[in-house]
Amino acid sequence: MLEYSSGQIAYLTKVRTVEIRTAPIPPIGGKDVLVRVRRVGICGSDISYFTKGYTGVGAIKFPHVMGHELSGDIVATGDLVSHLAVGDRVVVEPGYSCGQCEHCLTGRYNLCTHMSFMSSAVAKEYKQGALAEFCVRPSHLVFKLPPEVSYDQGALMEPLSVAMHAVQRSGLLSGQSAAVLGSGPIAACILMVLISQGIIDVTMTDLVRQRLDFMTTVGAKRVLDVAELTPDQLQKAVLEQSVDAVFDTTCNEKAVNTGLVWLKKGGTLVLVGVPDHDYMLDLRTIFNKELTIRSSFRYANTFPRIIPLVASGVLKPERLISHRFPFNRVQEAFDLSAQKTGGVMKVLIEI
Ligand SMILES: [Zn+2]
Ligand SMILES: [Zn+2]
Repeated sequence: MLEYSSGQIAYLTKVRTVEIRTAPIPPIGGKDVLVRVRRVGICGSDISYFTKGYTGVGAIKFPHVMGHELSGDIVATGDLVSHLAVGDRVVVEPGYSCGQCEHCLTGRYNLCTHMSFMSSAVAKEYKQGALAEFCVRPSHLVFKLPPEVSYDQGALMEPLSVAMHAVQRSGLLSGQSAAVLGSGPIAACILMVLISQGIIDVTMTDLVRQRLDFMTTVGAKRVLDVAELTPDQLQKAVLEQSVDAVFDTTCNEKAVNTGLVWLKKGGTLVLVGVPDHDYMLDLRTIFNKELTIRSSFRYANTFPRIIPLVASGVLKPERLISHRFPFNRVQEAFDLSAQKTGGVMKVLIEI
């Protein structure tokens, strides 16, 4: 254990400033493993912390360690760990739930009252984010990667899990239709998971042509450039293409209300994007069409389902990677991500 006494960690010391420092590695409990982190994906929530210091979930205290999309190698295990060994390549599920509250006991552990999610502003235990050489994690949240799955793909299991949960929440059946509002990385993951589940009639929207072109290559049946359409054209396009479910990743009032018009009677709106403000929904449309509105908060029990889909090539999340940076250029990686330009999809840090 002595060879792993300290490691480098990237701290967000104030808004838009990341500093790499050396810090001691915390002790490893009997059921924990020590992971040498290899890849970390930058998520929308990390970008919110970087640019504003908060998300819809809460505000962070500085210094803060971001990152919750990670893969790596096991370099040490606690005495009670038997299913993982030093040298295993792994992906980490970042949410640590209590296992004892009503929600945990009914299988919806994403709603755990005592959740400690890596890097979250409100986490208590195991809260350090992934942007570090090493992290200590409870072993039951660490999954071995099959040999055919790369570290890159491993780091993208988390956003795919968000997408898998959202698709489950929609209740969609194979052969039904969907629209996804927004075309960022989570939207792209939703598109991939929808197709993998036999929902191939999928419309994507965005304001950025470059992102829509990418969605076409991923398999979107139609793309709608909402920046180019007049309100009348949009309304017409919407009415012509009614769908069974709409997934919102934008938290944009106008977009979501357009999505309501877009839904078939009896359809379902799934809220996936994390809102950091309240907005108005068109209740008359919701009422008249007997629509169902569901939110989709993180995920539960999705990693074991995503891993084989990636291993078999059904899901190809590596297509999302638009940029990669070494750990010592983490500041640049965040500066780029924060620009939110069309060419930036998923940014990976190599550690
Ligand atoms: Zn994320
Ligand atoms: Zn719980």
